[in-house]
Amino acid sequence: MREESEIFDFTRTSDACIKCGRCIPVCTIHRINPDETTSPRGFIDLLGAYERGELDLDETAKDIFESCFLCTACTEVCPNSLPTDMLIEEVRRDIADRYGIAWFKRAFFLLLRHRWLMDAMMKLGYTFRTCAFSEEPRKGGMLPRFRLPIIKSARLLPSLAKTSFLNTYPENIPQGKGRRVAIFIGCLANYNYTGIGDSLLYILKELEIDAFIPKAQKCCSAPAYFTGDFYTVEKLAKENIEYFESFIDDVEAIIIPEATCSAMIKHDWEIFFRNRAMELWADRAKRVSQKIYMATEWLEKHTELSSLLEERGATMAETVTYHDACHARKVQGIYKEPRKLLGYNYRISEMSEAGRCCGFGGVTMQTEKYHLAKAAGAPKAAMIEESGADIVSAECSACRMQISASLHARESEVIFKNPIELIADALKKGKREE
Ligand code: SF4
Ligand code: SF4
Repeated sequence: MREESEIFDFTRTSDACIKCGRCIPVCTIHRINPDETTSPRGFIDLLGAYERGELDLDETAKDIFESCFLCTACTEVCPNSLPTDMLIEEVRRDIADRYGIAWFKRAFFLLLRHRWLMDAMMKLGYTFRTCAFSEEPRKGGMLPRFRLPIIKSARLLPSLAKTSFLNTYPENIPQGKGRRVAIFIGCLANYNYTGIGDSLLYILKELEIDAFIPKAQKCCSAPAYFTGDFYTVEKLAKENIEYFESFIDDVEAIIIPEATCSAMIKHDWEIFFRNRAMELWADRAKRVSQKIYMATEWLEKHTELSSLLEERGATMAETVTYHDACHARKVQGIYKEPRKLLGYNYRISEMSEAGRCCGFGGVTMQTEKYHLAKAAGAPKAAMIEESGADIVSAECSACRMQISASLHARESEVIFKNPIELIADALKKGKREE
């Protein structure tokens, strides 16, 4: 689990690397491109050389630094806890300054900064989706009818919802005995995988807990952070912090059914501001972070959901294998809670390396470097199939997008569901059987 004492000085980190090589066998990019330059030890060496002025940030260096998946597997095993992923995030800002950010990524980040514009684009996309895509409802995705320019590959993409989660429900849903939580939904669950939010509300209703859906919430800024667009990160983080502060004392928690958003808000906002000497904002981010929980974590630790599932949840026929999203297990230490909750009603069959990165990697990896994402996704899909499960689950929609595409590429019948959806399914079935 990530510690708070991060080191962002490239030279200091380079000097602190004892070259033990423990990080190399677990490194996602090194596993598919076994070269010292594309390994945590190699990245750190190159970053030290860059800071000393011995390495030009030329196209080759750019290509190398953009090949890191930011999976944090290296930080977990490093005896000195060197934060290679966060150093790469920092150097990507320099890359963005020098080379600019591709037009389609700038357009995407513009949409992330303006919810109304994203809402309008998604509505437009939903209306005309059948012109370019065919739906795969069982897999919760859609397939391009022809080769698309930015996507560059015929792969399964997330379906678009007719109405976003945030535009479906009222802001306040009183359904209980005084307990109240806020929901931060994340962009993919808001526009694509809307069943997650529906299921979370159903679970809260069964637990008689009031739900508050803060309508002015914005993207957590993770896609921009991973791409070096620090202007967008600063803007979104500040706007969200100010907004969260307006209701934080009126809710027990802000729960998030998404590992990446949760990790960004709980850990990375503070580090981002601290590293730019914006201490006041770092302190405000820290205060907000005290109430941030992944949804399964909060439900398991702070509610009666376990006994509810034990007493009233149905025994489900499907076998589930659980994938540990990097931002859930490695960054936040969350892996027992979802397994415990699912274990009441589903048979769990562990895959061989549940913690191995699925290969999502961020916007650049999903567009310009998709060949790397595809290569990293193939072994994950194979181990999911080998587990014999009917469903693969993880509390992360980025993993869902990547794993669903990797499974589809193997013509697999295994489908992906967020644990929140599976838990709601077990409760609903239990109710029908009563
Ligand atoms: S974050 Fe992942 S891909 Fe990047 S260096 Fe570390 S282990 Fe390798
Ligand atoms: S595990 Fe840490 S100290 Fe060892 S080589 Fe990798 S980055 Fe350096």
